Amino acid sequence: MRTLQPYEPGKPVEELERELGISDSLKLASNENPLGPSPLAVAAIRNAAEGIERYPDGNGFALKQALAELHSFKVENITLGNGSNEILELMARTFVTPVDEVVFSEHGFAVYPLVTRAVGATARVAKANPADHDMPHGDDLAAFESHINDATRLIFIANPNNPTGTWLRHDTLYAFIKSVPGNVLVVVDQAYSEYVQEEDYPDASNWISEFPNLVVTQTFSKIYGIAGVRIGYSISSPEVADLLNRVRQPFNTNHLAQAAALAALSDKAHVIRSREINSLGLQYWVEECAARHLNHIPSVANFISVDVGRPALPVYDALLHEAVIVRPIANYGLPHHLRITIATDEQNQRVLQALDKVLGL
Ligand SMILES: *Cc1c(COP(=O)(O)O)cnc(C)c1O
Repeated sequence: MRTLQPYEPGKPVEELERELGISDSLKLASNENPLGPSPLAVAAIRNAAEGIERYPDGNGFALKQALAELHSFKVENITLGNGSNEILELMARTFVTPVDEVVFSEHGFAVYPLVTRAVGATARVAKANPADHDMPHGDDLAAFESHINDATRLIFIANPNNPTGTWLRHDTLYAFIKSVPGNVLVVVDQAYSEYVQEEDYPDASNWISEFPNLVVTQTFSKIYGIAGVRIGYSISSPEVADLLNRVRQPFNTNHLAQAAALAALSDKAHVIRSREINSLGLQYWVEECAARHLNHIPSVANFISVDVGRPALPVYDALLHEAVIVRPIANYGLPHHLRITIATDEQNQRVLQALDKVLGL
């Protein structure tokens, strides 16, 4: 346990402002929704606050029912988590033992190595695509495949991936999952799926009935804008859901989070607006990067990883002094990139101005 690297969250705004003596800072380090939560979610929390002397519904029935309807599944296919992070952890705790191996990408989400090592299992890290690939730094499923052996128990794939924003096409991902032995679980982490507008982007939850070893995770932290209350879920075979259900805490998702998620789901207009603003913002960033001859990793998510052409940590630090908080991703093996959450027009412009100043552009 002492060799584990604790997950480094984006710095809380209050902490940073205290440390640097700045105010009015702009945090674009954790891929949060720049529009905030749906007003319906906030109202639902206010309403639900009246009932917090009671334990929450441990089965999250109303929310699971709404999710089952949304995805045309049964309640038995859904597992709620304290953020989808908890589902990722439950997958490791439920299915992986110290003699097993877990496969993920070298630029995979930080939580994958954490939960793997926390259960004492061996991580098998798949090389990503090279920088000159048409999906630079994206997942190379052939590399994943080369790591699969008799000890493999679990595979984590984020689609789109964080922190690259790269994605896997329908046929590629489908063929890979089909090729994986049935006793190996595959988690497809779709935390950013709602942002993706590419025609060839697959919703892997459509394949759940075909592959009992497939688990798809989703979150309310990103496009739904309620990261602060911690709620996410998985879609899987009822057998996998039943096992996760045995291992999870009885009241793993709280009353306010369930109420907020249910309300957020019903506010389709908020989701559509969030997606539209993101899509315009992404386009803006791509153009502005090109104008400055800055490379970036092509992204379909709500963030963009920009190659600042030098070690990114000092650039990150200098941006902090401009009251702009982004994310250095050296810990993801990308020491020259900064990951920046796509925000509103005005905020995007503010980050670019700060970046110009810091880079001397
Ligand atoms: C943000 C993110 C999540 C979501 O985490 P929550 O625990 O649901 O807030 C999951 N996977 C990836 C790849 C992410 O970037």
